[in-house]
Amino acid sequence: MSCIFCQIAAGKIPAKIVLDEPEVLAFRDLHPVAPTHVLVIPKRHIASLAELEPADAGLVGRLFVAARRIAEMEGVSNQGFRTVINAGPDAGQTVFHVHLHLLAGRQMNWPPG
Ligand code: 5GP
Ligand code: ZN
Repeated sequence: MSCIFCQIAAGKIPAKIVLDEPEVLAFRDLHPVAPTHVLVIPKRHIASLAELEPADAGLVGRLFVAARRIAEMEGVSNQGFRTVINAGPDAGQTVFHVHLHLLAGRQMNWPPG
């Protein structure tokens, strides 16, 4: 198993787990770019948003519901938070296992870089 996020989901590589659900795992980014920077992933390997199937719709919804819950846990719901899913090289995707970035705790810029 070469995928780093599959290895985190399997407990073979340590991570700072924030939320653990049957289909979804959330853990802190190794190189945070905001005071709150959590990655929310499906435990099942999907390489990219570009490979999503209609049957994955519920799973993707659960990523966002998990993000909402984590935003509450982190106390950033009211002040605001950003969710980002990078897909493909132009978007800067570096880990090819779908992950939602939950970013909060500072003013975000728009448009993003
Ligand atoms: P991407 O650029 O693919 O959207 O984001 C990948 C993210 O995964 C980056 O923010 C990077 O810091 C994070 N990351 C890469 N390897 C690891 C790791 O082994 N553990 C954790 N917790 N985060 C990682
Ligand atoms: Zn994977």
